[in-house]
Amino acid sequence: MFKLSLIVIALSITTAINGIVTFVSWKRRRTRYGLYFALGMTGVTLWTFAAALDYASVPLYLKILFSKIEAVGYHSAFALFAVFSIHYAGNKHWLERKWLRALLILIPVANILLTLTNELHGWVWSGYIPSNDGIYIFEYGPAFDWIVIDSYSLIVFIFLNTWTAYRKGSDFTRRQARLLMFALLFPIAINLLYRLGAGGIRGVDWTSITFSISSLMFAYALYGIRLLDIVPIARDKIINNLTDPMLVLDLQNRIVDINHWAAKALGISPKNLIGADLSKVIPATRALLDQPPEREVKDEFSIGSVDARYFDILLSPVWDERQTLLGRVILARDITERKQNELRLIQLTQAVEQSPVSVVITDPDGHITYVNPMFLSLTGFTFEEVRGKTPRIIKSDRMAPEIYGELWKAIKSGKPWRGELLNKKKNGELYWELEVISPVFDNGGNIINFIAVKEDVTARKEAETRLLEANRQLEERLKDIEGLQVILREQAIRDPLTGLHNRHYLNEALKHEIPRAEREGYPICFILMDLDGFKRINDTYGHAAGDIVIQYFANLLKKQTRAGDIVCRYGGEEFLLVLPNTPVDYAFQIAERLRRDFENTEIEYAGFHVKAMTSCGISEFPSHGATEEKALAAADMALYAAKELGRNRVVIWTEISAR
Ligand code: GH3
Ligand code: MG
Ligand code: MG
Repeated sequence: MFKLSLIVIALSITTAINGIVTFVSWKRRRTRYGLYFALGMTGVTLWTFAAALDYASVPLYLKILFSKIEAVGYHSAFALFAVFSIHYAGNKHWLERKWLRALLILIPVANILLTLTNELHGWVWSGYIPSNDGIYIFEYGPAFDWIVIDSYSLIVFIFLNTWTAYRKGSDFTRRQARLLMFALLFPIAINLLYRLGAGGIRGVDWTSITFSISSLMFAYALYGIRLLDIVPIARDKIINNLTDPMLVLDLQNRIVDINHWAAKALGISPKNLIGADLSKVIPATRALLDQPPEREVKDEFSIGSVDARYFDILLSPVWDERQTLLGRVILARDITERKQNELRLIQLTQAVEQSPVSVVITDPDGHITYVNPMFLSLTGFTFEEVRGKTPRIIKSDRMAPEIYGELWKAIKSGKPWRGELLNKKKNGELYWELEVISPVFDNGGNIINFIAVKEDVTARKEAETRLLEANRQLEERLKDIEGLQVILREQAIRDPLTGLHNRHYLNEALKHEIPRAEREGYPICFILMDLDGFKRINDTYGHAAGDIVIQYFANLLKKQTRAGDIVCRYGGEEFLLVLPNTPVDYAFQIAERLRRDFENTEIEYAGFHVKAMTSCGISEFPSHGATEEKALAAADMALYAAKELGRNRVVIWTEISAR
């Protein structure tokens, strides 16, 4: 009885300890897999509590009842610890396998059902033999071995998982896993001894009593070493909600935990990184890691060279509640894009600063916020002089105001403006600029700036002006030349004294007139004229008087001929009239009127009244001569005949042949 009381007291203490551990673990159930541990501990507490009641009870039926409750406790505890161990070993994904989930539910449920329904079949306990000390020895039925085997299988499974965690773990996790394994080994050893019949009192299973020591070890392992706390807190609260790389290091800089993004950034699988020394994985981190571990360090870090990725690093210590330094957390933020933008900005800024064209940036109201060095050197202003001013300071007042109106209208409506403006430097000097002014929009489509890119085109403009002037002068010269050419051409075909066409023109004109007459079948009449007794006029009144007479006769010819006729000074005082499409009798009338009009005229010269006459010879092409030469020869012969016949008369070539 004394021994029995001792057992009951020991079990009560065990239950109390288990109860406390259960309570603590329930409070911490929100950590990664704390819930399974808390549930398992609840099972253990139920087990030891029922065991205490079992040993305290006298009637057999109560003992059986409490034994059944014990079974509910430990079967569910083993299954829950199994789930816990899967998580603990980092093999959570195993639970996605249906058969494993089924096994973890089926085994405890089957065992519990078998135990609860023992009265129906006696497969678990076949009989109860009372012994002295008030203890019943339970005899085992056929299902009992199965229950022992699968219970042990579960325990081995739990053990192996913890072993895996130990192997994979860092210093922290190793210490913890070691302790957990030891805590498991202890009741297993006691239970084995019990199964083998050792242990002193028959019918007393010390396993449940040893569990108080185990659960204390569990509690110390989980909440004393506290590593389970760091990892789940880091994971659950930070890592899982984090899209940035994160690493947990122990004090030896070994990677205790690493999230998906960190492993991805390093290009190494997390499995191969756990336990590795970070300063060996990335030697460049050595300087960072050499910082005192209790100090928070912010730094920038890059991996790779060509496709370098940049990270903002925050290295912070991890303390437990008693201010013991446990390790460090590295939070990295990928700032590659920002970094690339920064570098791009530096490049572009330099490009603008070194640009040979002026760049001016204003706010939406046109107040200058930036000008590049080219603008300053071109205009002679300093930045202080132009900052906050509007581009009006370089306005020349030599441009039409409408241009500025158009410019503002375009850029305010969001369109770029392109054009040339005459601007004024600080010293008043004017210069031309080719400008492109465009609005800059924010993401919301609002205009936040205007950017003007301006090229000094003064030299080009001046060259253009000079070119235009040269062109204008050239055109003038060209016009003069053309005029001169017309005059020259005219001079070449005209006789200077009379203004009549010359023989050169006659020859050219006949080249067209003869074939045309042949083509169209009309006649051409030639009237050849020679002034009568001209030598005498020259001799009597002088050569100048002769010239006047020649000019007078020429004017008469001009007056009495049609536009299509060719009037030509043929020689000194000889003239030729070519009358296309004119019959010979009509030519005769023309010649006759000329002769008569000339005869009836007195030409005044130096107080003298000069009288003169002319003889005319007419021929018709092609009837009097089938070629130009022959027709002209015929006219000449007719003229000769007119002279022979006594002058001052008109003779047609046919008349000669008739004579
Ligand atoms: P005919 O009645 O036979 O024609 O007698 P003519 O004196 O007129 O003789 P011809 O026709 O042979 O002489 C022409 C003269 O005209 C010779 C020359 O001195 C003169 N003559 C020729 N050309 C000019 C000229 O341009 N001006 C002047 N003043 N005289 C000219
Ligand atoms: Mg003559
Ligand atoms: Mg004559």
